[in-house]
Amino acid sequence: MRLSFSPDEDKAVGPGFLLEAHKRRIAGYLTVLMPEPVDVIFTNNRSTMVSFKRRGGRLIIRMHRLFRHADPEILDALALYIGKREKSASQKLDQFIVRYQHEIHSPAKTRQTRVTSAGQHHDLSAVLNKVSGTYFGGKVDVRIGWGRSPTCRRRRRTRSVSRALATYSFDDSTIRVSPILDAADVPGFVVEWVVYHEVLHHVLPVEEIGGKRRYHTEQFRSLERAFVHYDAAKAWEKQHLNRLLA
Ligand SMILES: [Zn+2]
Repeated sequence: MRLSFSPDEDKAVGPGFLLEAHKRRIAGYLTVLMPEPVDVIFTNNRSTMVSFKRRGGRLIIRMHRLFRHADPEILDALALYIGKREKSASQKLDQFIVRYQHEIHSPAKTRQTRVTSAGQHHDLSAVLNKVSGTYFGGKVDVRIGWGRSPTCRRRRRTRSVSRALATYSFDDSTIRVSPILDAADVPGFVVEWVVYHEVLHHVLPVEEIGGKRRYHTEQFRSLERAFVHYDAAKAWEKQHLNRLLA
């Protein structure tokens, strides 16, 4: 895997169920702190990170979806900010937002280079649909296509398997699969495995510990093992990768 970043990370959130889980978590937490039951709406609004209104005895809080990263400390600050407009709370929220500002989508740049998903032997759209349907309730919203010819990459020493076989770019929410996998002797489950790995990058939050980003978190590794052909795919990689990358 290779990851790239720009300030306009787009749609790196992934399927609805994870967002829904965070929404419920945050609404439940805030409901305990606030005088009325809280509903949470995630937005992708660039300018307003948090807004709220009261309606029908409920407090409706709209927040940028980067708040799915909010831990109890941040949620405490959010409650203080909404309830009492406390200054220290608002500073804490500002710091939190700055930390995740790469998730605030800027529409100024409309790159979206075209990607082609049909191949000679494997159709990546079909593979993605299958992976999405099997593991993610059909809700994966990501682009997929064949990457560039691997000639230049071959010379580079690759540090991990998946780095050589596919990439996920946060910049344009796009999975690019190396064309070396578009071969008759590459089994379908191997392509599915490679795509599954990159979808996990799209779906899972990136952990940040001590200023360092961690992509292959424990949660990531454990979800990897949920892939039905995990053992076979790993074994295939081990057996064939040197030949593929030679
Ligand atoms: Zn990876």
